[in-house]
Amino acid sequence: MDQDLKSGADPASEGMAPDTGPLPEAVVPVLAKALERATARVFRRANQLGQEARRDPWALSMSGLGGCPRQAAYRLAGVAPTDPGLSIQAEARQAMLGTWIHAGLLPHLPEVLHHADIEIPLELRVWVKDAHGARFELVIYGTADCYSHVMGGGVLDLKTVNAYRLGDVDHDGVYNAHRKQVRGYATAARQLGLPVAWVAWLYLDRSTGEALVAVEPFGEEEEAETLEHVERLWETRKAPDAARRGFRGPGLAVECDGCAWLRQCWGSGAKPGDSSALKVHDDPAVALAARKYKELAAQIKELRDEQEVYGAMVGRPEPGSYRDVDGEMIVKYQKDGEEVDTKAAVEALVLLGGEVPMKKRRGNRLIQWGRKEPEG
Ligand code: SF4
Repeated sequence: MDQDLKSGADPASEGMAPDTGPLPEAVVPVLAKALERATARVFRRANQLGQEARRDPWALSMSGLGGCPRQAAYRLAGVAPTDPGLSIQAEARQAMLGTWIHAGLLPHLPEVLHHADIEIPLELRVWVKDAHGARFELVIYGTADCYSHVMGGGVLDLKTVNAYRLGDVDHDGVYNAHRKQVRGYATAARQLGLPVAWVAWLYLDRSTGEALVAVEPFGEEEEAETLEHVERLWETRKAPDAARRGFRGPGLAVECDGCAWLRQCWGSGAKPGDSSALKVHDDPAVALAARKYKELAAQIKELRDEQEVYGAMVGRPEPGSYRDVDGEMIVKYQKDGEEVDTKAAVEALVLLGGEVPMKKRRGNRLIQWGRKEPEG
């Protein structure tokens, strides 16, 4: 198309957008904020639709097999969620990005993997006893990302992670929570009559697309372990509030900040992002927590001192890969940036005759060793 502008031509008749005039500078931040909020709403809406599409959002699914044991107990016991909105409001953007990557990538797997099926709905059936001792089949639902018929049959699960987690998996192997989940799919697939000789995880770095694949054999032993794990979880439903907590608590673990049973687990005053629900009140409990804090602080100091020595030894070498007999270490740098020089800013303000704004500050908490109780 000829893009030369014809002088005097009516832009509308030429199929061009009318001139809007310059954008007032003042509206730029307002527009930016509105677009930011719109993005947040898109994430929230997509998350909500995803939750609504689930068969029963509060039942235990196979993806919960490796999650928080106490949450699993609440789910199995049918405890009504005290904070159902949290699981929708929680900062679930990474999870949503993961869902969208699944939707984009999975449909192409069968094109490149021989005899593969994707998104297989599965039911894990486990014999358990009800409150009267009668045996019945507990059914846990889930959807396996991919089932492949090659090499005796196997289940592949796609996990989207950040670069640090990818490095962790490379160093330490598959996360145990992921192992429990995928073994659940594999067991359910075998119950359905599909042979399973292996399970695999395709870990994908969300920011770079870098992939890492882990494969483990799967057989009767792993199947039996999976069934026993579900049986143990089932037992915890009798006293769900006494089941082991899988995460550290609100304000300390995002899993708790987004948990639909937050107040059931941590008490009626628990709030997402606020760790005060962990506070203990009686003297011996405070003393014990203070002692633990102090002991750990000493260990951390020792480790930090040692870490500083190694940090000084690394220095700032050329970015790249460094190898020794134990493997490869990668050194890279974030982009240089700028930060406010607070001291210089305060000095400039004073010199200009301005008043430095002040706010109240709580005195630092100091924990120190007291006298030991005399022995005997
Ligand atoms: S609040 Fe945290 S520890 Fe408690 S059930 Fe939920 S995830 Fe588990």
